Amino acid sequence: MKRVVILGGGESGTGAARLAKMKGFDVFLSESGKLKNAYKEVLTKAEIDFEEGQHSEERILNASEVIKSPGIPDTAPIVQKLDQLHIPVIDEVAFAARYSNAKLIAVTGTNGKTTTALLTGHILKKAGLNVKTAGNMGRSFASALCDGDPDYFVLELSSFQLERIEKARFYIAIILNITPDHLDRYDYKMERYIAAKFNICKNQTAQDHLIYHADDENITRKIQTVQPQAQLYTFSLNQQQPGAAYLTENQLVINIKGELKMSIQKLALQGKHNAANSMAGGIASRILEIRKEIIRDSLADFQNVEHRLERVTTICGVDYINDSKATNVNSTWFALESMENPTTWIVGGVDKGNEYDQLLELVRHRVKNIIALGTDTAKIKAAFGEEVENYHEAADMGEAVAIAYNITKKGETVLLSPACASFDLFESYEDRGHQFKSAVRSL
Ligand code: ADP
Repeated sequence: MKRVVILGGGESGTGAARLAKMKGFDVFLSESGKLKNAYKEVLTKAEIDFEEGQHSEERILNASEVIKSPGIPDTAPIVQKLDQLHIPVIDEVAFAARYSNAKLIAVTGTNGKTTTALLTGHILKKAGLNVKTAGNMGRSFASALCDGDPDYFVLELSSFQLERIEKARFYIAIILNITPDHLDRYDYKMERYIAAKFNICKNQTAQDHLIYHADDENITRKIQTVQPQAQLYTFSLNQQQPGAAYLTENQLVINIKGELKMSIQKLALQGKHNAANSMAGGIASRILEIRKEIIRDSLADFQNVEHRLERVTTICGVDYINDSKATNVNSTWFALESMENPTTWIVGGVDKGNEYDQLLELVRHRVKNIIALGTDTAKIKAAFGEEVENYHEAADMGEAVAIAYNITKKGETVLLSPACASFDLFESYEDRGHQFKSAVRSL
């Protein structure tokens, strides 16, 4: 019997193990850290053999095929050994794709993946299609597939999930944007990060569709060299690039098999970045020939995802906004760009090599006060300390919100958009966002 070994026992590893077991393989899962209890239960229930706290070579190197979890880099010693022995190592997405007959719609990009995948899923659902949303958020592709193959899968895929996609082919692929992030995984070579993302169109044929952002030079440059086989559709935030979708002064236009126009005021997701996400999801939906009316309604009534420019509440005329998911400079750029009132900006956390000068213009125009949060505030102070009326530092979220409350005036906004990872003071970006919201609500 073919032996399938899975490296890593998180959401994708456990899903892949379950799927492999269902397909009748001899399955073994190896997790070098600790398995979460919930996943241990899943594995035990499915009678899957596993280990934790180590990778035992004698039980791994005899595999016919290995499925690697996205968190494990190519440089991990066990992966290098497998590569040397020419034992195929593939991604969980590649494995699951073999067993799905669904039309696959895959979304990648540095920022906006979750939002766009959920938005696209929402439109398809409203159109009455049988669709599941999976991948990098919520449930893994493999795990969702174990519980049934729908007609359509909308998959959120990070670059980590695209590194070894083997023959996985996506009917529709979306590349939202590519800006520096996760470079530690790619030897600090931007080109390698871009190449991983572009694997999304590697196996596409002329029957498939590739949607990408025409304003993004990292994408357009790569398109020239890759010359994808798929039919191409672009979206742009300005009218100078009228492709499949673009923005005019106050309208979003999608032009595929007829023109769909919609006032940007009516979009559920505000901010330019979200207009881009709406265009990408809208183009995918028009490719599937979903009626314009349904797309318009869906773009208007979509419920925003938690921690992404999420409006928390208004207290004494001050709006509080939770953008805890902004873990890099580019996502924070869009948050600041969409601020209409003078802003008290709560920023900071674990710096991933941020270049703050990109934010300088916006800080000068939109930010009145800065509260630097976390252990690593020196760079923030150096970049912006002299640019704002008030610069403060806070040791925890409670203190940051208390300072914000004291210095922010009626008609102004308090924005948490950290531009950094959260692991100094918090368990995750969700924890950070929840602490912000509960501190705000108890004011
Ligand atoms: P991802 O899943 O790629 O991390 P999310 O949808 O979770 O993306 O959003 C992450 C952060 O990026 C949030 O702060 C959000 O407001 C911001 N964001 C969303 N879409 C875009 C976009 N198209 N360009 C830049 N930033 C974006």
